[in-house]
Amino acid sequence: MNKPVIIIGAGVSGLRAASLLTSQGIKCRVLEARDRSGGRILSISDKSRPELGKFDLGPTWFWPQYERTITNLVKELNLATFSQYTRGAMLLERFPNEKAERYVLPENAEERSVRFIGGVQTLIDAIADTIPSGVVELETRVTAIRLDEDGAITVEADIANGKAEKISAGAVILALPPRLVARDIEFSPSLPPDIMTNLLSKPTWMAGQAKAVAIYERPFWRESGLSGFVRSGVGPLQEIHDASPSPETESGALFGFFGMPANMRQELGEDKVLNLVIDQLVRLFGPSAQNVKAILYKDWSTDAETAVEEDWDPLRDFPRYGQPQIAGIWEKKIIFAGTESNSQYGGHLEGALLAADKAVSKILAD
Ligand SMILES: Cc1cc2nc3c(=O)[nH]c(=O)nc-3n(C[C@H](O)[C@H](O)[C@H](O)COP(=O)(O)OP(=O)(O)OC[C@H]3O[C@@H](n4cnc5c(N)ncnc54)[C@H](O)[C@@H]3O)c2cc1C
Repeated sequence: MNKPVIIIGAGVSGLRAASLLTSQGIKCRVLEARDRSGGRILSISDKSRPELGKFDLGPTWFWPQYERTITNLVKELNLATFSQYTRGAMLLERFPNEKAERYVLPENAEERSVRFIGGVQTLIDAIADTIPSGVVELETRVTAIRLDEDGAITVEADIANGKAEKISAGAVILALPPRLVARDIEFSPSLPPDIMTNLLSKPTWMAGQAKAVAIYERPFWRESGLSGFVRSGVGPLQEIHDASPSPETESGALFGFFGMPANMRQELGEDKVLNLVIDQLVRLFGPSAQNVKAILYKDWSTDAETAVEEDWDPLRDFPRYGQPQIAGIWEKKIIFAGTESNSQYGGHLEGALLAADKAVSKILAD
């Protein structure tokens, strides 16, 4: 293949695909709409207090018992990890105006989840280090993919300064959420209606969610025998975990996923939402929770590079993910990667890596 493989999206799936292709001597270019790599992976520190550590506003964990691909990659890349802190009692907040109940879970009640020292971004940085420089092109938003009568593919992208670029491609790997493929990329000739329906039917995993991280000088809840784990039917957070940066750092943190739906968060606005979060943490963990040193917030539902409006509704069941079956003229021209294209671990980092493996195997087979 003389023309490069064009990979759309520099999330973990697109980057892994680029790493595997370049290691096989296959030319590729990764086109990324954002001004950063990582996609849904986002590990940041508070700008005014960077010494408190880095915190994950996207994914946090992987599960080594059953996620072999990510576990092996983490070993291969020599990344430092640690187990999620779970020692002590959890809290269950059932109803408003009722004190939270305290439960000590039996050991191994929850499957061991593992975190990255420095955040999941260290995985992105380590994969990016295996890719030759210049392969990943940031601020390059793909708008169209065209196929001419001779089977030649042209990818069109908007780049900086309002300019556009046309790129000849040997094949295209779509390493972005399927709903964004359907909404944002024009196909000429059009994709068959059943493929469009298939793409639109796959919710982008966690796209309707938001995360808040409250950072403290120390993990004070541990001193009262609490693990930091909470389930709440009251909210605004429905699930809270200890998010302290590592076993070695002094600072402590709690992060939570929201039970409050996306449209309500958007109506209230960030300041009001975060005030409610602090109120809930004080209710659960006592007055020390008021002494928050920094608070980080990311609402993925308002991020157009992740979510579409259909993603705002809370998911009731785990979606059915997998590869759309491409037949006809687009077959072997476009190949789906991205976590939503993996049927077994779709949604997770593991699914994103497996999808990259599969896409690259298809390119190599052709
Ligand atoms: C809050 C949250 C918590 C999560 N927790 C976990 C967890 O603990 N464990 C776990 O395993 N998984 C978790 N996940 C899921 C995990 O983040 C995803 O499975 C994984 O990051 C998906 O990677 P991806 O490369 O498939 O897609 P993405 O990361 O979405 O990457 C797609 C890329 O495509 C880019 N793009 C979009 N449109 C265009 C365009 N037109 N042109 C060019 N580029 C474009 C985007 O900017 C993005 O960089 C969580 C996700 C969220 C949001």
